[in-house]
Amino acid sequence: MLNKKSVDDINVKGKRVLVRCDFNVPLQDGKITDENRLVAALPTIKKLISDGGKVILCSHLGKPKGEPKPELSLAPVAKRLSELLGQEVKFAADPEVVGPNAKAAVEAMQDGDVILLENTRYRAEETKNGDEFSKELASLCDVFVNDAFGTAHRAHCSNVGVTKYVDTAVVGYLMQKEIDFLGNAVNNPERPFVAILGGAKVSSKISVIENLLDKVDTLIIGGGMAYTFSKAQGGSVGKSLLEEDFCDYAANMIKKAEEKGVKLLLPVDTVIADDFSNDANTKIVPEGQIPDDWEGLDIGPETIKLYTDAVKDAKTVVWNGPMGAFEMPKFAAGTEAMAKALADIDAVTIIGGGDSAAAVNQLGYGDKMTHISTGGGASLEFLEGKELPGVAAANDK
Ligand code: AMP
Repeated sequence: MLNKKSVDDINVKGKRVLVRCDFNVPLQDGKITDENRLVAALPTIKKLISDGGKVILCSHLGKPKGEPKPELSLAPVAKRLSELLGQEVKFAADPEVVGPNAKAAVEAMQDGDVILLENTRYRAEETKNGDEFSKELASLCDVFVNDAFGTAHRAHCSNVGVTKYVDTAVVGYLMQKEIDFLGNAVNNPERPFVAILGGAKVSSKISVIENLLDKVDTLIIGGGMAYTFSKAQGGSVGKSLLEEDFCDYAANMIKKAEEKGVKLLLPVDTVIADDFSNDANTKIVPEGQIPDDWEGLDIGPETIKLYTDAVKDAKTVVWNGPMGAFEMPKFAAGTEAMAKALADIDAVTIIGGGDSAAAVNQLGYGDKMTHISTGGGASLEFLEGKELPGVAAANDK
């Protein structure tokens, strides 16, 4: 369990509460195209409203690189949040984030009111965790709540710096839920515990593989990263994704898994294509036998059988990274089969954020999983066993 104070441990009646949310939602022509992150933030906001706090929300959106960019304004979020909450969320449209609009709006707040500040990344200091902006944010509030799991792996003004200048810093419900689910799965799993790792690169998953090899019963590897393992075993991988520099590492991991008694599953066959395109010609070949001009873009049917069988009796499954180039329907079968297999089993199923979450949601299995993380990078760093700065900065219980 998370050993940090939460919104349940404080009294916010009449207090100004700054809440760092993750409102980094996709926008198209000023319209929010996926509002999962807004919905996920509601429990904490509603709790603070009903406890009589003056609720000041803040978040980043996209990468404005330290200057105001109207297309990355949080104004559409304020509008949609007002609808979701059924009460006005007043938008403080200051290009400097903490400016005259924000100060006046906070000054005029009644208990239970909600305001939203402008995109914190309009300020260049935000991502540098600078003191000035941290102090300005702190000057608006009496209490700080961090509910932004998606940025918990970064130390920025609005999630870490600000806590230096506020006495009370706690986590919100979303943050607590993420850490509890991921933490329990990794550190206290019901066994058998199976981890599925996929995605493009071995290099970005090295620390996760190492950390999980000490914890899991079975480790399943798929996606583009599998070809580096294949090459390390002497296979031909054609034009497939390959990190030559990591072949020794892959060979070493195969050995380590053996020593630790972890079942390491690698693909036995693969779907190859003559072009990185949904219109490409395709064939199925055994792993390690890819002709020179072809590339592997999905796990093959034998591998699907092997992998779906391997999760059948699992009691805990953590999945990070797709099994193939799933964005193209022709190469989505492996990822879809794993999503379906996880949806069908009686186990705790945790999906790391980012591409795996997108894949599971896009394929329609989202509500069949125990937990889908809202943070890609953050959930990956959590699986690496790292302490997240955004969590560490909250007061201990
Ligand atoms: P990552 O961010 O490392 O989890 O990688 C996710 C990306 O890897 C997705 O965009 C997938 O399309 C891509 N991917 C997965 N498998 C393959 C593959 N065999 N070849 C090329 N790209 C892949």
